[in-house]
Amino acid sequence: MNIGFQPIYQLTQEQVNTWVEEGQQRSQFGQLPSYIPQLAQVNPQEFVVKILTLQGQSHQAGNEALRFPVMSVIKCFLLLNRLLELGEERVFQRVGVQPSDQPFNSLKQLESDGGWPRNPMINSGAIALAGLLPGKDADTRCQYLCSWLNQFANCQLVLDPDILESVRSAPNAKNQALVSTLAAAGYVEHPEITLDTYNQICCLSATISDLAKLGLLLLQPTNLPWEIASRTVKTLMLTCGLYETSGQFAVQVGVPTKSGVSGAVLSIIPRQGAIACYSPPLDQQGNSIGSLFFIEKMVRTLNLSLFN
Ligand code: GLN
Repeated sequence: MNIGFQPIYQLTQEQVNTWVEEGQQRSQFGQLPSYIPQLAQVNPQEFVVKILTLQGQSHQAGNEALRFPVMSVIKCFLLLNRLLELGEERVFQRVGVQPSDQPFNSLKQLESDGGWPRNPMINSGAIALAGLLPGKDADTRCQYLCSWLNQFANCQLVLDPDILESVRSAPNAKNQALVSTLAAAGYVEHPEITLDTYNQICCLSATISDLAKLGLLLLQPTNLPWEIASRTVKTLMLTCGLYETSGQFAVQVGVPTKSGVSGAVLSIIPRQGAIACYSPPLDQQGNSIGSLFFIEKMVRTLNLSLFN
């Protein structure tokens, strides 16, 4: 018996509601990202949470019907898919496992590493892996990942054409420079298709329930390869999932977590369940202030750190 171990089932709806309210207050100090025009137009007060456990327990707050783009949270599932389809050896010929203390879209980091993408949780690494999805064009590649996830997670991700249009309307020079550098170093073969694929998979939209169900994918290994691949994904979420903040969050909170610039955040409580949050205002590193606050409160109050 692990002394002090309090499983998620002790969570009360009252606690969820209180932390949502506190998280909403803190989120006032954040900013909406301006480089994707549509993300700057969302309601900053929106706050949605869903907790799902392996035993089928669920807690929620906020508008469950709301759809939002998952953005960088997709990086976990792109990695999972590629590991399962191609195996570790091929995946880690294209991307490393080293944390980075630079921003998620840092060209400086990629250049100082000679074009080698450090890890799959930053843009360079995810772009490199998007280049390994099967299909003749970006639409087919995105659809392939979307259908695979919907099938295995029993969720309903769909490509959001408006947000994709918004991404395309303001071409992102940083991501373009990343893909060119990756191509020059030989880690990407078709830079245009690859960048378009990456943009599309970031624009897959989800409800908060879909996001939590995706989280359960990393907890329900159906076979040994799945178990090994999801362990790798969770480890990289812990060490790299929040970019420069990953180390600090691992010490303070201690659960695998991945953020997206839309304000979506997914945390995994190993052997227990998933916490999905959406609250748009971001901190300096591009992580949702409200979502990280909620997750920290819940994990610390219920003693859910991996390292307890
Ligand atoms: N599509 C976004 C970008 O490349 C994803 C980044 C993120 O969510 N941190 O900028």
